[in-house]
Amino acid sequence: MAAGFVPGASGGGFVPGAEPAAPPAPEDLALVVAGRKLLAGPDGRFPRVAELPADTAWVPLGTLDGRPAWGAELPDGWQGPVDAGDEPPGRWRGWRELAAGLPAPLADLAGRALAVLTFRRTHRWCGACRAELADVPGESSRRCPDCGLYVPIRLSAAVLVAVTRPGPPGGTDELLLVRHAQGPTDLWALVAGFVEAGESLEAAARREVGEEVGLALGRLAYFGSQPWAISGPGTLLAGFTATAADPAAEPVVDGRELVRARWFPLDALPPELPPAYSISRWLIDHLASAAA
Ligand SMILES: [Zn+2]
Repeated sequence: MAAGFVPGASGGGFVPGAEPAAPPAPEDLALVVAGRKLLAGPDGRFPRVAELPADTAWVPLGTLDGRPAWGAELPDGWQGPVDAGDEPPGRWRGWRELAAGLPAPLADLAGRALAVLTFRRTHRWCGACRAELADVPGESSRRCPDCGLYVPIRLSAAVLVAVTRPGPPGGTDELLLVRHAQGPTDLWALVAGFVEAGESLEAAARREVGEEVGLALGRLAYFGSQPWAISGPGTLLAGFTATAADPAAEPVVDGRELVRARWFPLDALPPELPPAYSISRWLIDHLASAAA
């Protein structure tokens, strides 16, 4: 198993919340978002509330090791206080870069900031009656004061499946890896896809593997989950291990979403694997170390 990864415990010292005990204090954490990027200090950590303009409209995000964290959205390209001589309190980084350089609780907090502030920017008006939505105290959700429509924050569930089959006699099991036509095309990745409305995570895992590589699954087991902000704010990845129903079946790709799919022995995986901060990699490392 990957060092430091405990399925279900990746939140660490970060506790999401929307009901602050007190107004923002100068030493509280400031998660400043512009578009799809966050402001990070020179050491890669987040600035403090005191480093941002006093009139910033803060939104509560929760706590990190007991310290309150606040989010705010600033115009794209904002570079810091304009007072002469002030250095900008950091530079803009995408979630991919933050997740690669920060421990999981901080990456999760960054993902929550992106999700909450994007949700607030894109859910300002009631979709049913066009009135201006209001915050629901203690929640990240919003409600229409006129017609009562309740608008919970958007969360998109996606599944990842690590499919294995027995290897040749005396060899290790084999893992199915795929290459995508879009996105990081140089990586060998796991089969993945978004869950449809009305579908269970397990059904989505079986459907995606069937659609993408034409294989039926035997045993399917839940592995763990990870909040993920690269495929869009508010994505929740659920990882599964699975066995191929027919060990002799070969994967077939459609050539559009996927360009390649093949079995790799777990003791001879390719070097081009997903990054260390991803649940894809935690799944692959878990299987590889179990086979060693
Ligand atoms: Zn309404």
